[in-house]
Amino acid sequence: MTMNSHPGNGRLNDRNGLMGLSFDVEEWFQTAAVTAVSAPGAFDEKRRRSPFLVDALVRFLDERGARATFFVLGDLLRVEPGIADSILESGHELACHGWGHRSLKEMDRKSFREDIEKCLSLWDSLSLPRPSGYRAPSFSVTEGNSAWVAEELSSAGFVYDSSVFPVVLMRYGIDNSPISPYELGDGGRTVIELPLAVSPFMGLRVPVAGGAWMRFTPLHLHSWLLRRTVRGGLVPVIYSHPWEYDEPFDGTSGFSPVVRLRQGRGSGKRMWKALGRLLDRFESLPLMEIASAYPERPEPRKR
Ligand SMILES: [Zn+2]
Repeated sequence: MTMNSHPGNGRLNDRNGLMGLSFDVEEWFQTAAVTAVSAPGAFDEKRRRSPFLVDALVRFLDERGARATFFVLGDLLRVEPGIADSILESGHELACHGWGHRSLKEMDRKSFREDIEKCLSLWDSLSLPRPSGYRAPSFSVTEGNSAWVAEELSSAGFVYDSSVFPVVLMRYGIDNSPISPYELGDGGRTVIELPLAVSPFMGLRVPVAGGAWMRFTPLHLHSWLLRRTVRGGLVPVIYSHPWEYDEPFDGTSGFSPVVRLRQGRGSGKRMWKALGRLLDRFESLPLMEIASAYPERPEPRKR
């Protein structure tokens, strides 16, 4: 483990800010793009890529003294419990991405509670530390469900949620929500919300949170927007998925050009390069460290 070391290449001087770094761990065939056109894949061992990809990501982070949060799906952890070991052994945070990647927009309060309880019993049966953080599949915390989502998460022992995109997009977002950490809930029990990063620019909020935003935006532009965000005093919360680092992207065959574009464009080598640049530029924190510092900003680590 290289948590406290950093290669002596002078990069530290280039770092000018903090970011919250996160990965949503799911298989390529569980995404909204693929499940929209084919039934969710059975957990065929040959098709699972996450254990290999999470290991590669953990090694990449460890080599750079970087730390992150991994939001893992319950039904993936059930068949691949080794993923948790690889994350925890290197000192990263293991958090919860729900059970089977079902959007909260398709759930009522009761089915959401059952979804979370199923995850927590799996965590207990594997003797894993209870997760403090939750990220909804497809960022599906909305204005309509945020009050009961916060109450249920808080009752289940979660400290924070990181599912709100503070901008309205095609499938997700709450356009009037704060862009820095805030309390999610409506007078009842609350959790700390760590919204996904947007950059205020000419009266707009431009998403810079990573994932598809990183794949579709030229890297220089993404990096420039992110630096502006950090200079503005935010600790941006960044996400991506292990399948975005896969190469060749083997989910593309047999899918329409639209699905290939949504899921495959910019993935593989380009994502490793993008992640490397981010880690050169910013010190990364697991999201729980941002939540713990709330309502203050977290401090950089003493070196
Ligand atoms: Zn997801």
